[in-house]
Amino acid sequence: MKPILFLTPVFKEMVWGGDRLHAEFGYDIPGDDTGECWGICAHPNGDAVVTAEGFTGKTLSQLFRERPELFGNIGGDRFPLLIKIIDAKADLSIQVHPNDAYAGSHENGSLGKMECWYVLDCPKDAKLVLGHKAKSQGEVREMIEQGKWEDFLQYVPVKKGDFIQIDPGTVHAITTGCLLLETQQNSDVTYRVYDYGRLSNGKPRELHVQKSIDVILAPAKAPEDMVKHVQNLPKNTLNELISCQYYTVFKLDLEGEMTFEQSYPFFNISVTEGEAALNGTAIKKGDHLILPADFGNVKLEGKAEIIASVAGQMKKI
Ligand code: ZN
Repeated sequence: MKPILFLTPVFKEMVWGGDRLHAEFGYDIPGDDTGECWGICAHPNGDAVVTAEGFTGKTLSQLFRERPELFGNIGGDRFPLLIKIIDAKADLSIQVHPNDAYAGSHENGSLGKMECWYVLDCPKDAKLVLGHKAKSQGEVREMIEQGKWEDFLQYVPVKKGDFIQIDPGTVHAITTGCLLLETQQNSDVTYRVYDYGRLSNGKPRELHVQKSIDVILAPAKAPEDMVKHVQNLPKNTLNELISCQYYTVFKLDLEGEMTFEQSYPFFNISVTEGEAALNGTAIKKGDHLILPADFGNVKLEGKAEIIASVAGQMKKI
């Protein structure tokens, strides 16, 4: 039988972080300013350690290099995805990510970053920064250089259970009180456009204005093309939330029992609510795990909310 690869998350303290990753997920966080739990990660800035018989102590990037057959021999020089839970106790800076081509040539061969968010919780009147109101590249430059933030930024209301796809080149910011699960390309390249003039340890954080202007796309996508309301999906089935070049993300509301065939190169699971048995092994809220290639039949029993993903617009193998 193929092993379930459980992962030990990596935590990141951030000026905008809080303590909900401990209070609500029970993680042993490093401090009350913990902004990110990197649940499934194989990046130089955070590499999760695997727990599974025969592999314990290896990092995910080691395992991806040394045992490619566990990942369906998909090729590539790195594990393609990064999955995080984000606790924003304060507003994050306004930011944008480059695409692969720009990151490759300006950031030492790094990947670009396509990302998507599932809103685990947020305040009643929450709004996220998604896109902008400039009509052209020239207007983007002008509004940023002149600091016309109120005219420039587009705020979009969101609620718990919404799902948001963010293409490279899209201006975005997570706002106070939002708790999100993020599925993204395995990249840590972020350009900070604006930080509300805030100081961190007495100094403003570094901005990347020129690179931001280079990569921001204009005009921006309409909000309704970025936000999906996925609150009432059928239970006990893998509901596809998005399928793009880099990832396919599913939501599963388990209530009782369901089975499916794991015939993707590999299958990422993050449990965001409840608990269940997966082929008899207990999984619970806060667990992150990978079902390797040829895992075969998966039987889930319990009551849980799961966000799962596979790399790319993967055809089953
Ligand atoms: Zn981002």
